[in-house]
Amino acid sequence: MSGPPGWNFDNTYARLPAALFSPAQPARFGGPRVSLLNQGLADELGLSFRDLPDASAAALFAGQTLPDGAQPIAQAYAGHQYGGFTMLGDGRAILLGEQVAPSGQRFDIQLKGAGRTQFSRGGDGFAGLGPMLREYIISEAMHALGIPTTRSLAVATTGETVYRNTPLTGAVLTRVASSHIRVGTFEYAARRDPATLQSLADYAIARHFPAVADRPDQYLDFLVAVIDRQAALIARWQHVGFVHGVMNTDNMAISGETIDYGPCAFMDAYDPATVFSSIDVHGRYAYGNQPAIAQWNLTRFAETLLPLLHADADTAIEMATAAIRNFPATFEQAWLAGMRAKLGLETEDPGDGALVAALLDWMQSARADWTNTFRDLGSMIDENGTGTAEVPHLTDRLESDLYRQPAFAAWHARWLERLGREGRPLAITAARMAAVNPWVIPRNHRVEEALAAATGDGSVGHDISEAEGVATTDPLAATHRLLAVLASPFKPDVEAAAYAEPPPPTTSCYRTFCGT
Ligand code: AMP
Ligand code: MG
Repeated sequence: MSGPPGWNFDNTYARLPAALFSPAQPARFGGPRVSLLNQGLADELGLSFRDLPDASAAALFAGQTLPDGAQPIAQAYAGHQYGGFTMLGDGRAILLGEQVAPSGQRFDIQLKGAGRTQFSRGGDGFAGLGPMLREYIISEAMHALGIPTTRSLAVATTGETVYRNTPLTGAVLTRVASSHIRVGTFEYAARRDPATLQSLADYAIARHFPAVADRPDQYLDFLVAVIDRQAALIARWQHVGFVHGVMNTDNMAISGETIDYGPCAFMDAYDPATVFSSIDVHGRYAYGNQPAIAQWNLTRFAETLLPLLHADADTAIEMATAAIRNFPATFEQAWLAGMRAKLGLETEDPGDGALVAALLDWMQSARADWTNTFRDLGSMIDENGTGTAEVPHLTDRLESDLYRQPAFAAWHARWLERLGREGRPLAITAARMAAVNPWVIPRNHRVEEALAAATGDGSVGHDISEAEGVATTDPLAATHRLLAVLASPFKPDVEAAAYAEPPPPTTSCYRTFCGT
C-alpha cells in the first residue's frame, strides 16, 4: 500500500499468457493539464488527489508519471466490426494496472489517447479533447442513471495537437472499468491456442463470476451468466433511449458494463430506427436493433467457448445453442419488467405487453419524446403533487396538444384502468415512477454545446455559457454545469429545467462520429 493519493495496484492481467497483451508506454507530451477530475469516483477507488499539486495531477493523468506499482500494457483483442472479423487490440488505450479499492473491488485504470501501442495499426494512438470529454459526460450520466458502465476518472489535455479532419486539442481520458475484457478478447484468444483461451476464461470467471467457478459445467454457466448480464444491460439501454452506435464485438464487455462511448447518443423522439452514427448507413446498430445485435455478438462469444463446453464438438454446439436461444426471452423479461416500472406497475398482468406496445405505437406516430413522455405520465397522475415534487416548468408540458390527441387519451384511460387494479394511491405510484423515469438525460444538443465551449470549436451549437448565465471565462463551465445536472437524473432541479427540453426542431439530423 502506498501513501497518498492511495494507489493500491495489482497487475493480474499482466500475469496472464503473454499472447494476451503487449508492454506499452505512454507517449511524451509537452504541456499536460487536467480538464476534469472526478472526485466522487476517486473517493470510491480509495484515491485522493486533493493535495496533489496541479502539475503532478496533470503529469499523472496524461501518463507522464505512472502510479506506484503500474505495469503498463496494451491488451490484445479481435472483433467483428459491422459483421466482419478483424484482429485489433488496444491501439490507443494503455492499461496501467488494477486499483484494488478499499471495498476490495478491483478496477482497471486505463489511459485512452496516450499514444501508439503495438496494436495501433495505421492510427496515431491519440485522442481529441471533444471525444474524451464526451465519453466522460455520457459515461458518468449512465452511471447516475444506474446503468452498469465504465467510469471516467479524469480528462487531461496533452499540450499537443491531434490531426483529424481538423486540428484538435489532444487529450487523455482515464477510464475505470471492472475490467476491459471484451467478447473480442475471447475471439482473439480462441484463435491463438487452447491454453490461452482457458486461462482467459478462468480469469474472467474468477474476476466477474466467481459463483460459477469450479462448478461441473462452469464454462456453460459462465456463458449463461454473460448472456444474462448482457440481456439486463441492453434492456436498461432501451429503457432510457440509449443508442450505443457501435456494438461491435470488441465493444461488448464480459463484465456487462457499457463500454466505448464513440458515436453513442440518446434518442429524443421515439423511433426504433434511430441511428446517430455517420457510418452506420444501414442502421445495423439502430435503437430497435440493439437486442438482436447483442444476441449476434453473444453467439460469436459462445463460439469461442465451444472447446471448453464439451470434448464432443456436437454436444458443445448443442449446449451453446440452447443457451443463446434463451437470450430473447431473458431480454424480453428484463425489458418488460423495466417498462412496467416505468408505467408504475408493480404487479404482472398478461395484458401488460400489449399495453406497453400500444403506448409505443402512439409515441412513434406522434414522435413523442422518449424521456419526457414517461416523466409526464407520472406527473399526470400526481394529483396532489406530493409524490414527484415536479417543478412548474416541467408540468407545463402536460398542457401541450400532444396529450390531447384522441389516441393518447384512449391509451391513457386503459392505463388508468390497469393502475386502478393495483389499488395503490396514485400519488404513491407517481413517486415511484419519478424514481425510475429520469427527468434529464444527456441531450445531444446540450452535450454539443458544452463540447463546443470546452474545445473552442464554435462550429457546433451556440454558446451555452450566455444562454445559461454561466460565467464565460472558463471554457469548461458549461461542461461542469451539465455534469452537475446529469448527476441527479431523478431529482428535478428547477434551475435546470431547460436541460430537460428536446432540441429545437431543425432540418438536419444529429450525427455522431467514430474514430475521433
Ligand atoms: P473503437 O472504434 O474506439 O472501438 O476502436 C476500434 C479499434 O481502433 C480499437 O482497436 C482502437 O484501439 C483502435 N483505434 C481507434 N482510434 C485509434 C487511434 N487514433 N490510433 C490507434 N488506434 C485507434
Ligand atoms: Mg472499442
